[in-house]
Amino acid sequence: MIVEAKGLVKIFKSGGRQVTALDNIDLRIDQGEFVLIKGPSGCGKSTLLFSLGGLLKPTSGAVRILNKDIYALSENQRLKFRSQEIGFVFQSYYLVPYLNVMENFMLLNKVNGARVTKDDMSRIAKRLHLEHRLDHKPSEMSVGEKQRASLARALALKPKLILADEPTGNLDPENAEEVLRYLEEFRKDGGTVVMVTHGSDADKYATRNIKVDSGNIID
Ligand code: ADP
Ligand code: MG
Repeated sequence: MIVEAKGLVKIFKSGGRQVTALDNIDLRIDQGEFVLIKGPSGCGKSTLLFSLGGLLKPTSGAVRILNKDIYALSENQRLKFRSQEIGFVFQSYYLVPYLNVMENFMLLNKVNGARVTKDDMSRIAKRLHLEHRLDHKPSEMSVGEKQRASLARALALKPKLILADEPTGNLDPENAEEVLRYLEEFRKDGGTVVMVTHGSDADKYATRNIKVDSGNIID
């Protein structure tokens, strides 16, 4: 068991209104799974993923990752734990626009307290067909390359778990397939993937599908 969520509730309060984004979710994910989270827009998929990953503290309930109660940790401990164990990939990459790819990678050492070298990153970049883009800025790259760069950054920290929020949302089918293949490779090497998606492009890699509606797991 790598992730266990119990009684997850997340209520957002905005402008006097309350939105229940997660309505008492229980979930267990084992090592080696490739889990897809699907459901209509606004149903709580991102909220669930971020809560599972230690990015968003639930209103109530608990998340255990590798048997650690992550929201019982201090913010600093949680940041450290997250950096060591979890990789994140988002639809919109989050590369720093004025830094080239290698400089973006090297930020891992500052922001995540990692110790990755340029050699490490060149090796990973090569595996993801990015070796010719290391001195390019995000604006000089295709969307597929940008997403591979953000995946390379996630893989660099050798996480046990990758959480991906619509990682193929901006990609054409070919680039989407490439990113999915790397995620599957990561899983085959012993990793675990939890991915939010709208489409069906990842269905063939999924070991499990989770359907979410109105903050509940319905299937
Ligand atoms: P999905 O990823 O499935 O599209 P989200 O998890 O982003 O859905 O959002 C679930 C619900 O919570 C939506 O109604 C959304 O408007 C609301 N929500 C998400 N984030 C916030 C926030 N920071 N403040 C207020 N409401 C939010
Ligand atoms: Mg979302």
